Amino acid sequence: MGWVWNIPLWNRMGTGYVYSSDFIDDDAAEKEFKKYLGTEDIEITRKIQIRHGVRKNGWVKNVVGVGLSYAFIEPLESTGLVSTHVVIAQIIELLQRKKYTLTGFDIDGYNYSAQLNMNNFRNFVSIHYKLSSRADTPYWKYQTQEKDWWKVWDDEKDERKFHKFTIKNAGVMFDNFYEMIHFFHSNAHIWPPEFDGVAYIMAGMGYKPIDDYYADLISMDVEKQRQMKNVYQNWKTHAANLTEKVQKLPSSYEFMRDNVYEK
Ligand SMILES: Cc1cc2nc3c(=O)[nH]c(=O)nc-3n(C[C@H](O)[C@H](O)[C@H](O)COP(=O)(O)OP(=O)(O)OC[C@H]3O[C@@H](n4cnc5c(N)ncnc54)[C@H](O)[C@@H]3O)c2cc1C
Repeated sequence: MGWVWNIPLWNRMGTGYVYSSDFIDDDAAEKEFKKYLGTEDIEITRKIQIRHGVRKNGWVKNVVGVGLSYAFIEPLESTGLVSTHVVIAQIIELLQRKKYTLTGFDIDGYNYSAQLNMNNFRNFVSIHYKLSSRADTPYWKYQTQEKDWWKVWDDEKDERKFHKFTIKNAGVMFDNFYEMIHFFHSNAHIWPPEFDGVAYIMAGMGYKPIDDYYADLISMDVEKQRQMKNVYQNWKTHAANLTEKVQKLPSSYEFMRDNVYEK
């Protein structure tokens, strides 16, 4: 009824189960998790009730919320620490740029910009659900088939929820993040560079920038065919260069062993 993380640490495996209490209660979740781990002989040490959302204004008078006191989405993709880092960097930049004398305009600008960043993190996390093809449990069926994802962006009633904003991407305005994905993927059949992380998640979920149908259309156009071959050739060269570099590097295990644990 959710997802599990497994993080190999040096002396143990860190693991956790993120589930929705709308679909399963704590006891059943614990049983399910133990079954997944393949043992009853394990103590579940912490249950965390996740309150997710972002404050409307992170900066109020002389107080700024940073970390969990400002916003939290969920553990997926580990956006917690990086978003905290982004907020701290923004505060330092603003204070230094304005020589520690701020106006209301500066603080409004900070709040606007910080929230925009959190919205981007929220969008990025949410597509892991929206683009999944899982329907093997009622929870995943709800996420991938029943949930009205467009509405997520329209619901501004709850103060703790993220706030709607307009996205400009590749010169086109969108009111809604999904509108943007659908415009480029389903309508224009182009993935613009500004897609950033979205492109990686889409590819990982089995969506291709160009499907077989569109490839057939392109194959009728000689100039487009030439361009595509060029792109493919560049990509192959890039992948070969990268592979050569990576093969010369130690594995994560070797790096940690030699530099941290057995120095
Ligand atoms: C299950 C889970 C997994 C996560 N995994 C990752 C991950 O893999 N990568 C990642 O980047 N982030 C992850 N996060 C997010 C990350 O843990 C948080 O973003 C980060 O810990 C926030 O730090 P913080 O200092 O804001 O809050 P906290 O770490 O909660 O620190 C706040 C501290 O303030 C104390 N406190 C509270 N009220 C008071 C008070 N009135 N007086 C004095 N002290 C008080 C609390 O006891 C606590 O020690 C995860 C979060 C969860 C819940």
